[in-house]
Amino acid sequence: MEKIVITKFGGSILSNESEYSRIADHIKNLTEQGVGTVVVVSAMKNVTNSLIKLISHPVQYRAILSWIKEKYEFALKGACNGGCKEEFFEAFKELVTELERVAWAIGVLGEVSPKVKDYILSFGERLSSIVMCAALSSKGVPCEFLSGFDAGIVTDDNFGEARPIHEISSRLSRAKILPLLRAGKVPVVTGFIGGTLDGAITTLGRGGSDYTATLLARYLGAEEVRLYTNVPGILAADPRFVDNARIVSKLSFKEAMELAYLGAKKFHPRTFEPLLGTGIRVRVTSINEPNGGTVIDDVGGPPPLKAVVALTDLALVSVEGASMVGRLGTAAEIMRAASASGVNIVGIAQPVSEVSITLVVRDQDADNLVSALKGLRDGFVRNVNVKRDVSAAVVVGEGLRNMGILRDVLSRAIIDRAKLMLWYVGDSSITLVAESDVIGEIVRSLYEEVIGNG
Ligand code: ASP
Ligand code: MG
Repeated sequence: MEKIVITKFGGSILSNESEYSRIADHIKNLTEQGVGTVVVVSAMKNVTNSLIKLISHPVQYRAILSWIKEKYEFALKGACNGGCKEEFFEAFKELVTELERVAWAIGVLGEVSPKVKDYILSFGERLSSIVMCAALSSKGVPCEFLSGFDAGIVTDDNFGEARPIHEISSRLSRAKILPLLRAGKVPVVTGFIGGTLDGAITTLGRGGSDYTATLLARYLGAEEVRLYTNVPGILAADPRFVDNARIVSKLSFKEAMELAYLGAKKFHPRTFEPLLGTGIRVRVTSINEPNGGTVIDDVGGPPPLKAVVALTDLALVSVEGASMVGRLGTAAEIMRAASASGVNIVGIAQPVSEVSITLVVRDQDADNLVSALKGLRDGFVRNVNVKRDVSAAVVVGEGLRNMGILRDVLSRAIIDRAKLMLWYVGDSSITLVAESDVIGEIVRSLYEEVIGNG
């Protein structure tokens, strides 16, 4: 075994019964090249959402359960086309029975604790790992399926958003996984799942399979993490506004994190954290182009600007009041009001005169925020204004630290000064807030003139 690669297959590609076999062929190929391959699997498409629904609508549990069961049964049959050992069917049946039992119990109790919720959510990935291993084994690839916890990922007991305990997890996962690889077996590990020291199942937060993959890469000293999706990499422009945008070939972790927050590609927010400073790279790619796609590492690379993404359906909420000027704690009170009403702030601007503060928020949050801010009116706030039909174009790239490049971006974005309302610069991004009707034009212009040609 010369090198270790962690491969992760997300729900978007685990959508039907033939996918597991296709992936198994791909993994077989990698192992035949002498690559020590670990497979991390998500639940099949929409399964985690259905399990959440099962918890919140326990009266519908039968229908949801049979949908999930059928989906995986079908997948298992497809995976076992070349014949499977009985042990897979048995393990599968056992797990389905366990799920049926808990689902029934929730149906009766009608309420679950965060601990039980994580336990229920674990079934999507656990069933998936059995099907994946069955597919590999029917193609003659020796494998072993394990839950994230069995693979050594130990977490705290913050159910729903558990944090791995690195020292313990690193030791345990090496002890568990490395001997399997040495014996020529492919470990098939459930993404998303860990466990507390006393054995309760935890989950790492939505989209957590990416995080499982990067954690294992760090613990095992892998060379590369491959996050397989149904697109051949990360796009350089928002596909809603630009057709046939090219694939970004290189990103730094910093740039990738900015793009992840923007939803250009949905990663678990902590995906890259375990790899910072390790020299391990991530490749986002599809099964058809395993050596292409987008490579993400500590250093990144050219071009200076990587992508332009749009955030649509925003609103600007601004607060004015002469007595805000020079008054300490004004901004803090405004933010507290936003946070108390559950509103996430996308951007903040305040002129130096301090006569107003403008918040960029999601349109759906605007009404809530306005009524919370009006509650402050007896104090220092005189007016609360809302501007709707607002969107933002966000350009990402460490090259924005260069003055010439920044100037270029701004000049392309000013298609119509009256419509460009606000902009703010982050470490490796610039956010340009404008009226929604010009956002497509701004995104296209930025892509075509400053990003697209590299
Ligand atoms: N199945 C989990 C989710 O949907 C984890 C993942 O897909 O990464 O959030
Ligand atoms: Mg995912």
